[in-house]
Amino acid sequence: MKRVYNFSAGPSMLPLPVLEKAQSELPNYADSGMSVMELSHRSGLFTEIITEAEQLLRDVMGIPDNYKVLFMQGGASQQFAMIPLNLLVNSKKMDIVNTGSWSKKAMSEAKKYGDVRVIATSEDKNFTYIPDVDRSMIDPKADYVHITTNNTIEGTAFSDIPDTGDVPLVADMSSNILSVDMDISKFGLIYAGAQKNIGPAGLTVVVIREDLIGNAPETCPTMLNYKTFSESGSLYNTPPTFGIYMAKLVFEWIKELGGIKEMERLNREKAQILYNYIDASELFASPVEKGSRSIMNIPFIIPNRDLDAVFVKEAKEAGLETLKGHRSVGGMRASIYNAMPLEGVKALVKFMKDFEAKHK
Ligand SMILES: *Cc1c(COP(=O)(O)O)cnc(C)c1O
Repeated sequence: MKRVYNFSAGPSMLPLPVLEKAQSELPNYADSGMSVMELSHRSGLFTEIITEAEQLLRDVMGIPDNYKVLFMQGGASQQFAMIPLNLLVNSKKMDIVNTGSWSKKAMSEAKKYGDVRVIATSEDKNFTYIPDVDRSMIDPKADYVHITTNNTIEGTAFSDIPDTGDVPLVADMSSNILSVDMDISKFGLIYAGAQKNIGPAGLTVVVIREDLIGNAPETCPTMLNYKTFSESGSLYNTPPTFGIYMAKLVFEWIKELGGIKEMERLNREKAQILYNYIDASELFASPVEKGSRSIMNIPFIIPNRDLDAVFVKEAKEAGLETLKGHRSVGGMRASIYNAMPLEGVKALVKFMKDFEAKHK
């Protein structure tokens, strides 16, 4: 069987054991005579799947009891609107740290519902670092503070989660959820599209503190109200059943591997191998400041831009796919999420070394 190392930013690789398990169960799930895709979302078998998926996520992430886990659709992009719709309801003021393209999108949706204030930004240096944030910068009357914990396009990540005091911290964790151990009690709301570190596209996971549910105005559409999902156990309407099943298999895979701490150790090891090589290389360079580097999305550049296309083409021929950088940054980008094996990163570094020998 041919499998490539896929460095795509999303949808991205899934763990092979998860794909194989799904394949083996596909035509006849748990002796039901049907696939998960054909099961009623109200059936006993699907109830087990969604209950276990939630429990596994709670275990792996260490989610406290006063938080709800919601399985939704619409991607992280729908959350950009849902969050202000549900949370920007008291002072109607929101503070945001602008660290790149996805923060900007979160910001432009929130502006439709209230006052948005940028309390820190790295725009002055093309978003190549994470600005300092401290409690004194935060408006104590703000309804919430928004951060993007990992900036998928720019390749930066918060290494410390800011202390926002009593103001709820809302985090777009689409590209680093489940990759590092985090104290969930620091957050009011966490959201993530599934297609980077959780499972197939089409599922969105929201972890929300209970007191932040039920405050949306009467005019809030039912399907955009967290209360709807919380009260129905994410079963108000038909949820993305197959995506939830796949997520459950991924959560199981993380647990069996040794949990989030082991996942983090592996991720740091993978990222270190790539950064060490880039920093020592005379051909490649990292555009990101050292203290702000992401361990999930690693952009790198070749000063001679003419070589970018050659690199991407030859890498593909070597079984290393989707290394072209985002159009706003250029160069290359290797997304090495949880499911990227250590061997994949080693194969990339070997390819880069050979490429450097040929072109320096
Ligand atoms: C991919 C991504 C998004 C957009 O996710 P969709 O599920 O496609 O809406 C938002 N924020 C971040 C940080 C992302 O990486």
